[in-house]
Amino acid sequence: MKIKTTLLENAYAFLNNSLHFYHLATHKDYPKEYKRYWMFSLVDIVQAMELMFKEVLRRENEFFIYENIDKPDKTVSISKALHRLKNILRIELNQSDEIKIKQAIELRNKIVHFESELDIKECSRIYAILFEFLQSFHYRFLGEELHDKISPEYWEEEALLIEQFKNEFVLYNGIKVHKHYPIEFVESQLITSLKIDGKEFKRIKFGDEQSQYDVYKQSHCGDCGVKEGYYHVLGCDLEICPKCGGQMISCSCNLDENFIIQEE
Ligand SMILES: [Zn+2]
Ligand SMILES: [Zn+2]
Repeated sequence: MKIKTTLLENAYAFLNNSLHFYHLATHKDYPKEYKRYWMFSLVDIVQAMELMFKEVLRRENEFFIYENIDKPDKTVSISKALHRLKNILRIELNQSDEIKIKQAIELRNKIVHFESELDIKECSRIYAILFEFLQSFHYRFLGEELHDKISPEYWEEEALLIEQFKNEFVLYNGIKVHKHYPIEFVESQLITSLKIDGKEFKRIKFGDEQSQYDVYKQSHCGDCGVKEGYYHVLGCDLEICPKCGGQMISCSCNLDENFIIQEE
């Protein structure tokens, strides 16, 4: 027997599956070990997003979902689909949504390649943002309420996610950020130097990295969201170590966490 399904049917199947794992990972009555279901929950919601992106491309032109339009066999990756939505279909996504989508894709890739240590709080934040994003994306570009595609057994999760999104996020500087973010951002701007391996170094602001990588040539940091000319929020993946020039969170220099210098 062969089963023929459409992109959208698959997208909804992945979404419902994701909510199933979300339910298992977050329900207070379940054992702690169930937290590992976050992994499947995130992988599946990113998969649902990828399929929705492709459906929007396909509706515009059936060849847009292929990597090479002259050789329509392999379909595009999610990053390329996102790129086409923006650059060919001129779909406007707000900066913070785009940052979160990219973070989610990265997290999915890490999970799939078993390199991840999941930070549950971070999973929960990213999940709520993605869910909200999918709802609005679906409504805007696929013309229907996503709610109608969610199996009634997950309506409770849906309601909780919407609630979480409303409570946890605020608008700051025109972008949607976690409510603790403005404080973290302001605090980080006061820290202009760091002590590394016993010596003091000036921190490198976003945009001053002198790196050829595209991530440093955007208007906002793709990880912590600061604008060009500001210090990254402490712990940002993209902050460069001023001593060795490597990624600060992973380089082998010793950052003195107790010696954070604040200047006027
Ligand atoms: Zn940053
Ligand atoms: Zn270093």
